[in-house]
Amino acid sequence: MSSQQAGSQQPGAGPDLDAVVIGAGFSGLYMLHRMRDVLGLKVRVYEAGDGVGGTWYWNRYPGARCDCESFYYCYSFSKELAEEWQWTSRYPEQPEILSYLEHVADRFDLRRDIQLSTRVAGATFDEAGDCWEVCTENGERITARFLISAVGCLSAANVPDFKGLDDFRGDWYHTGLWPHEGVDFSGKRVGQIGTGSTGIQAAPVIAAQAEHLTIFQRTPNFSIPARNRRFTPEKWAEIKADSRDIRRRILESAGGFPYVAVDRSAKDVSDEERRAIYEQLWEDGGFKFLWGSFNDILIDLEANDTTAEFIRGKIRETVKDPEVADLLSPTDHPYGTKRPPIDTDYYETYNRDNVTLVDVRKAPIVEFTPRGLRTESGEYELDIIVFATGFDAMTGSLLKIDIRGLGGQTLADKWADGPRTYLGLQVAGFPNLFTITGPGSPSVLVNMPVAIEQHVEWICDCIDHMRTRGLRRIEAKLDAEDEWVDHVNQVASMTLYMKANSWYVGANIPGKKRVFMPYLGGQVEYRKRCDEVASKDYAGFELRSGGSRQ
Ligand code: NAP
Repeated sequence: MSSQQAGSQQPGAGPDLDAVVIGAGFSGLYMLHRMRDVLGLKVRVYEAGDGVGGTWYWNRYPGARCDCESFYYCYSFSKELAEEWQWTSRYPEQPEILSYLEHVADRFDLRRDIQLSTRVAGATFDEAGDCWEVCTENGERITARFLISAVGCLSAANVPDFKGLDDFRGDWYHTGLWPHEGVDFSGKRVGQIGTGSTGIQAAPVIAAQAEHLTIFQRTPNFSIPARNRRFTPEKWAEIKADSRDIRRRILESAGGFPYVAVDRSAKDVSDEERRAIYEQLWEDGGFKFLWGSFNDILIDLEANDTTAEFIRGKIRETVKDPEVADLLSPTDHPYGTKRPPIDTDYYETYNRDNVTLVDVRKAPIVEFTPRGLRTESGEYELDIIVFATGFDAMTGSLLKIDIRGLGGQTLADKWADGPRTYLGLQVAGFPNLFTITGPGSPSVLVNMPVAIEQHVEWICDCIDHMRTRGLRRIEAKLDAEDEWVDHVNQVASMTLYMKANSWYVGANIPGKKRVFMPYLGGQVEYRKRCDEVASKDYAGFELRSGGSRQ
């Protein structure tokens, strides 16, 4: 039976599938494995790309690599998988992470239940059947008891609506939709818009190849050196020997990183001591700079200023032209309140003769022209323009799908004033829809595979609970959702995060409601709350069996 026929459900018959999963990245792959191979459910994954890998399938821009270290940016659910896979370097490049995810798909025989090149267009909850009717852009229709969003937090590319873009005679690319065959920058005049994590990774690599690179910066960012290196056999053996302890530290840390939390204030040490701590962390490189220095960086502006000033000092030391150094030094937001970029030779790139920094805060981009682009201060002739302009984060990918819950309410309407969820897992009015790393969960503030595994396992336990009790419907209660949203906001308001115009608050998308989207309580506290909810018969959720409440 074709899926198109399967969708035309006979009255009284059950849905075609137990679950439809949208997306075959880190989340979707594990969700499929867990539901199908552990719970024995009938599942189909729809994936818009021509291959698996999600973020790591799409983001093939030059210099793309993970900002988390390889040995903990990976799954932990399979001991065998962990034992057989060997990472080559501290921060894996995109092709290596993609190979890892392809290996996972093959190793667990996942591909037979993944339909590639298929974008889900809409999903409507069938109130009588307690199931979702899902339709794809290819016109397929299928029903499933559960709809699982595994669409990722940073997947909807943000291409700003620049006037005249169609007139530009050169080539332009968004980093998150990069051509598989790559882009040859040799002998080209390249423009790059955007200096977030992506632009900061891409610029040094593009500059090394292009005839000239012009970087259009609206807001400077604080970047920390990655200090990437290949693993020696000895280093890898050391990591393997320490793996149990690494896992323990990950589960005990708020961010899901294997760093030991520090319990000292930046204000309780002398200037020399503080400087020595920052210097050491700068030498070590990576995210530890944020988590491993002081406990008040993200809650106390005075403490934060010490970090910010240290980094600005490093920029001044590195960048030879003082005016360029000044332009690269952030003063508009506290360090860490935007996702901190991790780089390889970013600031050094500005010492190259073939790199120019243009301040488009002072003189914004007015329009694209056939020959390049024009800012308020002049025209720049360019052959290639790279959009490192980020994503409609956390909600963009889900809201591209026409999702309709009880009474035909659309998710877009429900979230018009910002996303509302219970635990980032469910939305009141949208029964049997689960959102892996949805807004309102720690998600992007945590080492992603850790956040993903916790969500997948919680959702699967919940579905198993329902199955063994013959329950067909689960829905977050409105009051539980309201309380959770208040809690998420309250925790955010205790920090400095609200001081930044970041994608965490949707500030990068014109017209997007300003709401702090991820949960800042940390994954330890969050996991505890989710487990408590489950142990109290899924408190805050309403569970029903065929129309009657549990
Ligand atoms: P981003 O952090 O949102 O940065 C986008 C950049 O484009 C910003 O500099 C922004 O300026 C600029 N921009 C946007 N619209 C513009 C416009 N109309 N005119 C001029 N400039 C404009 O996006 P991203 O760098 O792609 O990073 C997004 C997230 O992806 C990161 O924070 C990180 O979580 C993740 N990421 C991870 C890795 C990794 O693991 N290695 C790598 C890349 C990305 P404003 O700041 O002024 O808005």
